[in-house]
Amino acid sequence: MIPYGKQDISQADVDAVLEVLKSDFLTQGPKVPEFEAKVAGHVGAKHALAVNSATSALHIACLALGLGEGDWLWTTPVTFVASANCGLYCGAKVDFVDIDPRTYNLCPKALAAKLEEAEQEGRLPKVVVTVHLCGQPCDMEAINKLAQRYGFRTIEDASHGIGGKYQGEFIGNGRYSDITVFSFHPVKIVTTAEGGMAVTNDDQLAAKMNLLRSHGITRDPALMTHEPDGPWYYQQVDLGYNFRMTELQAALGVSQMQRLDDFVARRHKLAKRYDQQLAGLPLTLPWQHPDSYSGLHLYVIRLQLEKTTFSHRKVFELLREEGVGVNLHYIPVHTQPYYQQMGFEENDFPQSMAYYREAISLPMFYGLTEQKQDKVVAVLNEILDERT
Ligand SMILES: *Cc1c(COP(=O)(O)O)cnc(C)c1O
Repeated sequence: MIPYGKQDISQADVDAVLEVLKSDFLTQGPKVPEFEAKVAGHVGAKHALAVNSATSALHIACLALGLGEGDWLWTTPVTFVASANCGLYCGAKVDFVDIDPRTYNLCPKALAAKLEEAEQEGRLPKVVVTVHLCGQPCDMEAINKLAQRYGFRTIEDASHGIGGKYQGEFIGNGRYSDITVFSFHPVKIVTTAEGGMAVTNDDQLAAKMNLLRSHGITRDPALMTHEPDGPWYYQQVDLGYNFRMTELQAALGVSQMQRLDDFVARRHKLAKRYDQQLAGLPLTLPWQHPDSYSGLHLYVIRLQLEKTTFSHRKVFELLREEGVGVNLHYIPVHTQPYYQQMGFEENDFPQSMAYYREAISLPMFYGLTEQKQDKVVAVLNEILDERT
């Protein structure tokens, strides 16, 4: 089966991890700060905080922004559940904003309309999580204007987006948001096995997230309520978690970051080949905003169902039967049973549902050979071309 995504581990990656394994520190050593500096430097952010997953990064980002009981977090339905769950972890309520039918990202116009209504009803969101689906950046300038006007804070869930650019600048530089989060799960662009990072330009948010990722404990006398009792002394000044990244993961991350540009360039080459070779089929191919450079975590096609013999499900099954490990990103979060209990109706977000009924993620990863990609194209042709 050709998977939809897969990590690429070089000998240098292996060596980097082995070196740590033989060193003095398996956790809380020099590699984590080195990885943080590498990512912060690359994306152009002042602070970077490595954690054990993007889910944890979203959680401490929400807490640092003060999200809590009685507050609202809004995000897009077309995302992994973690983009919404982070609100629930903090005791806040979650609501969704429908997607733009062309980018599949949270639609700024739908956001504006929903904010206007929410203002009248006195239930404006405290935090909006924007997701750069497939790596294509959201319209952050428009969303930031709304943030200024309505006073909400913004987290960019850039789990798909490292290495991508918006308006010519790397995603994560924080021009239009408070905090940006990256994931280093193996299917993502850069991997640390499990791992995530939160980046920000705000000193206070960084300090807060730093505390929260490690039990709320500090060894910095400046943050303590009184002079240290002695050299052993630490203080717990907040309720935090153990969300720390290990040295092994960070070493892998440092090594992988050296190939980031190469990883993204390869994905663009593969996307271009798909664009050309699938152009004649009854498909809606990914649209790319001219003002942005996608990290291209995913290549999502949409079936033009009125022009195909088979159903969405059947096309999906046939692809898998032929060894093409397609996937679907994502089942709209508001349709999950856990969210249905909160009263969401499927058709609350019609663009998200329309997307869900047609979308298929094709194989897209660094190690995908042209030969294997040609097979994906051939199988799709066979299934979708009426003339054969
Ligand atoms: C993968 C992913 C996450 C969660 O990342 P983990 O590192 O696995 O916790 C969150 N949001 C989106 C959009 C993702 O794709």
